[in-house]
Amino acid sequence: MSRATDEHLAKVLERLGEVARALRWKQATDAGISALQLRILGVIAEHPERQVGVALLAEELQVGKPTVSESVKGLVDQGFLDRKAGGTDGRSHTLRLRAAGRKHARGVPPLSEAMAALPGPHKDMLLLAAMQLLEALVQSGHVQVQRMCWTCKHYRGDRDTLHHCALLKKDLVVQELRTDCSEHEQAA
Ligand code: SF4
Repeated sequence: MSRATDEHLAKVLERLGEVARALRWKQATDAGISALQLRILGVIAEHPERQVGVALLAEELQVGKPTVSESVKGLVDQGFLDRKAGGTDGRSHTLRLRAAGRKHARGVPPLSEAMAALPGPHKDMLLLAAMQLLEALVQSGHVQVQRMCWTCKHYRGDRDTLHHCALLKKDLVVQELRTDCSEHEQAA
């Protein structure tokens, strides 16, 4: 493919990113919170098995701890989150979604609906291509946190039609490939 096609695709992706950001901003404004606070609710919802606190949120969202801490305080004050003391020093806290926060923790509805309307094979191709892009960005150091199958030491496969997780001991169809897996371990 030509360089012009590469640039065209990059622009389309950029445009989709802008649309997603605008929709997220509207979703946050409607809920009376900031876009960062909406992402914080989303990260906590996506990791029910982990003890999510300010440090982990700062790492996931690549934002400074003081900014995250202030946003979390606002969410606690507004009744979207509960903060429970954790750890042995009594200073660290674990965050839990309250019912009001859970309501806003889902993905951006118009985008999810548009995605649902795509034919299955298109979704598979899109997911594989998006994972290849993410992996390239991880390798070039532009994305830091990424727990996807292709950077995981348990992944066996050809990144195209054959996918297997040695930890789960099962073959994975494309839709089962993970981009945020709690069992992920960085490949050497
Ligand atoms: S442990 Fe998770 S990220 Fe790693 S290969 Fe298995 S499913 Fe993928």
